[in-house]
Amino acid sequence: MALFSDFKLNKQILQAIEDLGFENPTPIQEKTIPLALAGHDVMGIAQTGTGKTAAFVIPILMKIKYAQEKEPRALILAPTRELALQIADEIKKLTPYTDIRHLTLLGGIGTKAQIEALKEGIDIIVATPGRMMDLYLKGELILKQIKTLVLDEADRMMDMGFMPQLRQILEVVPQKKQKLLFSATMPEKVIELSEEFLEFPEIVEITPSATPAETVEQHLFQVPNIKTKINLLYHFLQDVEAFNRVLVFARTKKNADNIYKFLERKFKDDEIRVIHANKAQNTRINAMEAFKRGEVRVLVSTDVSARGIDVSLVSHVINFDVPYQYEDYVHRIGRTGRALQEGIAMTFVNQAEEYHIQKIEEIIQVTIPKAEIPEEVEITETPFEEQQLILREIDRQKRKENPDFKGAFHEKKKSNTKSNPRKKKK
Ligand code: AMP
Repeated sequence: MALFSDFKLNKQILQAIEDLGFENPTPIQEKTIPLALAGHDVMGIAQTGTGKTAAFVIPILMKIKYAQEKEPRALILAPTRELALQIADEIKKLTPYTDIRHLTLLGGIGTKAQIEALKEGIDIIVATPGRMMDLYLKGELILKQIKTLVLDEADRMMDMGFMPQLRQILEVVPQKKQKLLFSATMPEKVIELSEEFLEFPEIVEITPSATPAETVEQHLFQVPNIKTKINLLYHFLQDVEAFNRVLVFARTKKNADNIYKFLERKFKDDEIRVIHANKAQNTRINAMEAFKRGEVRVLVSTDVSARGIDVSLVSHVINFDVPYQYEDYVHRIGRTGRALQEGIAMTFVNQAEEYHIQKIEEIIQVTIPKAEIPEEVEITETPFEEQQLILREIDRQKRKENPDFKGAFHEKKKSNTKSNPRKKKK
């Protein structure tokens, strides 16, 4: 097994690594660090939880060595605020024995403090693309000295439509710099981005793209409706000892709020939190920090808000529903079983979601083992409206697979177009 000392890192970094308790480099670190130290452009295909952050932070620290002048020499771009904060946290942990300065530039909060900090002098910037460009265009952020540029979670950046901003950024940073790109998956758009962005990159692939970590045990529960999903979730969460740090995923903000409202009534208030895009930035950060410290046992989240959440000891990931962006399944369950810990991922699937889970199984090349709903859990009847939604979704799926399909639901449509009596009042 490789050792961190094999990389000829300076003693300040080695000491920080030792304090962090990292014994050996993870596979992505073992492959990326020497290449990055040698000055190559690197494309790393690795999901969160593999130690990819330290894989690019350590070479940057070696290159920067110590605080110097005022203008930043490394720029790390991340798609979400949460991920940017997590990267900054890793930099902080790796730099207690150096004077290297780093700064996080995030949208959604005032620019004043960020501008002041830039004036004081900074070595590494971690930023979301929008805010970074804002400050650059205002003339507050000088990029002339950038020697290393990192794009983290490039697949998510593409999903979030950051391509135009990334092109702009590539134009304004110096040509002669090292570029590192990390992505959990390799969709077409990321390949295009890497062609535009990297020069003769070394490609480092840790797991075949979209393969969940082997330390995650996956279970699939066939659950007919929302109420039964709630009953099942409640059943599991009552086992406080086993379910000691749980991330519950919901596809939409509305679902996340509804799950939270239910759980809030059943458990102690401070045990449960919810995060999604409608929550204030500070509320989200506080909830996440409390979850990390183990004060909050259950965190309910949507996919976007959960990106980059770095919590080592998540006992269970519960997918209350199936994500329609199939790569999110890998991201979701990648929150557990991190850095070689064992973890359990459970997915609740209704009849309409079977289609999507099959697509996911094709991508991850695994048939997720089915589990039985425990006997104590009440299986309620599906309300009429919910059943209609499920049938309509199944019809939609069939039409997608076969455009000539005229579903049973299609025929009945007329009788369902009656206006909702409540709407008449207006
Ligand atoms: P990442 O994939 O960068 O999000 O890292 C996941 C977690 O693994 C973080 O909590 C890191 O601090 C931790 N980690 C990174 N490198 C190592 C290592 N070599 N040994 C043990 N844990 C690590």
